[in-house]
Order: sequence, then structure tokens, then C-alpha cells
Amino acid sequence: CGIAGYVGKNQAKPFLLSGLEKLEYRGYDSAGICIADETGLKSCKAKGRLSELVEKSKNMDLSGTTGIGHTRWATHGAPTEYNAHPHFSNDGNFAIVHNGIIENYLDLKAFLAEKGFTFASDTDTEVIPQLMQYYYNGNVFDTFLTVVSKLEGAYALGLVSTYEPNTLYATRKDSPLIAGLGKGENYIASDIPAILSETKDVYLLEQGEFAIVTADEIKIVDQDKNPIDKKIFEVNWDV
Ligand code: GLU
Repeated sequence: CGIAGYVGKNQAKPFLLSGLEKLEYRGYDSAGICIADETGLKSCKAKGRLSELVEKSKNMDLSGTTGIGHTRWATHGAPTEYNAHPHFSNDGNFAIVHNGIIENYLDLKAFLAEKGFTFASDTDTEVIPQLMQYYYNGNVFDTFLTVVSKLEGAYALGLVSTYEPNTLYATRKDSPLIAGLGKGENYIASDIPAILSETKDVYLLEQGEFAIVTADEIKIVDQDKNPIDKKIFEVNWDV
């Protein structure tokens, strides 16, 4: 339902929590965040209100400067903590947040089960990080392109990986996603209010566009990696 992502010079956690808070009005049943660094993925999830997540994450080590967060509106799998996003690959190297529905997830799940993958949730989403592990070829973005080409349905996606802990990847189809331009820090979100306290300069991602986000720049490319010359959209309203 709601997506927030951060990469930059500061700690990711405070923005992830405040960004998700700005998206609360959309409704949700659980929430979670994940921080990536060289040592691995650190995450915290909670059922219910965002305040539960804030409380639970208080005394956890979630330090790091790249991360993704999600508020979930369950479509596949009950509203529980283990179904809350982010979802992970079995090897712990990839984490995904997802808005929307993967229509062909049962086929993908059967394919992965055949290859020995096990599942920690009942969601349609979890096939995505597992496919990242399965297809990983030493290049996170190339693998992301391959995996997204296998997906049918509607999605806005945020991806982090231990292989490139200073980069955030995102894409969308039939579900909204934006990227926010900061100074020495950049953002992704499913909607403008999430980032408005940080920046008013955004890229509105179109269908099938991919964002490669680092602290210093946001590259937007198509599925064939052709760069897209995006216009900055300047938000002229306050929240
Ligand atoms: N289909 C996914 C799930 O049920 C994502 C739902 C959402 O958009 O929040 O977990």
C-alpha cells in the first residue's frame, strides 16, 4: 500500500518511519522496514499501527544509510507480522517492498519450490526476492530487469541488496511510484506526501521505468537500459 525508500548521507530509519507515517491515510494492516549494509539486511516488522513498529524498532540495531519501508494492505495472505513487507530471499541478500498484486505468483512459486526455495510468507510478493536470488548473475540491476520481466500484474517495487548496499532500485507498472531528489540523499515513495518534508523536486515514474538511486543521483532508464531524460516535477503544494 505505502512505500518509502532512502539512500544518502544520513541514517535511513528516521525517514522511513516518518515517510510511512505520511502515507498512513491510505490505510494498512501492518508495516516494516529494512536497512541494507555490508554486513547484511536488518529489518523490523509489526502487525497493526505504525506506532507498533516505531516502538518495536526503538531498541533494535537498524543503523545504516540505505533502506526501504512499507505499509501493507493485504491482498494475498492474512494481515500478520510474517506477511508484512519487506520480503527476503532465502540467502538474505535481497529485500523487496511491493504495492499491487503479482497475478502469476502461484506459477512462480511452484517454479521456485521446484528449485528448493522455501517461503516465509503467504504473500504473492515473496516470489520477487526469491527470483532475485535465483537469477542473480553478479549484477543486481541486470537481475532486477530479468526478474521484473517475469512478473504479471500490478506493481510498484523497491529493492535493496547486500551486494550493493548504497543503491536502491525501483520500478512500477499500474501502481504509482515517485523518486525524490535531495542533496546528498535521495528518496523513493508511492506518493508525494511521503517525501514532501524533505524535497519538492520529484520524478514521476512512468509505466515500465526503472530508477537507480544512490546518494548523489537518480538515474531513470527503460527496460533496455536506455537512459530517459526525465523532467523534474516541482511540487507546489504543502502538506
Ligand atoms: N499483494 C501484496 C501483499 O498482499 C501487496 C499488498 C499491498 O499493496 O500493500 O502483500
